[in-house]
Amino acid sequence: MLTAGQILQLIRNGTCRTRKELIAYTGLSRSTITERVDRLIEAGYIHESGVGISGGGRPPSVLDIDATNRVVLVADLGAGHARVALTDLAARPLVEEHSEIRIDRGPKVVLSWVRRAFQRLLDRSGRPSDQVCGIGLDLPGSVDHASGRVIRSFLMPGWDDHPIGQGLREAFDVPVLVENDANAMAFGEWWSSWRRSRSLILIKVSTGIGTGIVLDGRIYRGVEDAAGNIGHVRLRESDDRVCTCGSRGCVASLASGHALASDLGRQNSREVVRLVQAGDPTAIALTQEAGRTVGIVLATAVSLLNPAVLVLAGDMAETGEHYLTGIRESVYRRSLPFTTRNLEIVTSSLGDRAGIVGTAVLVIDHVLSPAAVDAALASPPTTNVV
Ligand SMILES: [Zn+2]
Repeated sequence: MLTAGQILQLIRNGTCRTRKELIAYTGLSRSTITERVDRLIEAGYIHESGVGISGGGRPPSVLDIDATNRVVLVADLGAGHARVALTDLAARPLVEEHSEIRIDRGPKVVLSWVRRAFQRLLDRSGRPSDQVCGIGLDLPGSVDHASGRVIRSFLMPGWDDHPIGQGLREAFDVPVLVENDANAMAFGEWWSSWRRSRSLILIKVSTGIGTGIVLDGRIYRGVEDAAGNIGHVRLRESDDRVCTCGSRGCVASLASGHALASDLGRQNSREVVRLVQAGDPTAIALTQEAGRTVGIVLATAVSLLNPAVLVLAGDMAETGEHYLTGIRESVYRRSLPFTTRNLEIVTSSLGDRAGIVGTAVLVIDHVLSPAAVDAALASPPTTNVV
């Protein structure tokens, strides 16, 4: 016997759009389907939108997810910036805010800024906090998915093993999900532009280098939640530059935004982007060379996983085609032609919103999962859903 939460999935993924289709698909009685659907409507999970095609008699009303009753709070934290947003259940940002806050100021400072920023978003949108159904954060480090703690990040001193979600969970009394930033961005790009493709690799090149992998519509995290750490593959063991990880000759120490900035005598990857956009020939040549270096490792990833899409995101996606051209050169030259003949190599379509959208969708998938919906329906209502 399907639960109300499972019925919601059938509506959400488009399998069934009317009560009649639910009865036909599930084999449940009309009265059972009516009872389940009424409970989902009462709790504000779905609404009746418009009118379906009639097979004679009264036209059936179409059931759809109600994206507006509940909201999600998300924070996308980078090495030198943070973006927060309040989204509806279709992952559309309703209000946003960003800041140049640096993540190396530590979890106490950054997370208390996030908490205050979340409150400002609620105030600006006029939404009461009891409409918040979940919170998500993504950050530039490997995250233990079960505990939501950072395992290791070279950009985030002081964050290792910090209970990131705890303060926010206490403040808002909702589930808090924590995700690696490249994973979140990969999921956001896949969800918004590539849902028809089964697999996608996203490479984020800003201060550091991170990779997110989506396989069969799910983030692939690996057994240690450490999949995608290609930035620390060592390409030149004799290189004299020491990487943030302590080794020499890592991809990140040769081709990250930080590496390019130090080669060009600049402070950070944003300045490199501005130089390239201004047409500086040295900056352009070095940026293309960095793309070729990253492409060497990506060729292996492409040969191994045969993805449909390779997305470049982060600051280097804003260098016009320059970094991307370098990646393309290496990937095509170093892979078998039939592995890459249908491969799309593109820049991020969501730009600096990829992390926000991906993190919001992860939270929405979680709060609308059958188990979460059935648990919420079983407990006495604590929120007034309009
Ligand atoms: Zn390294």
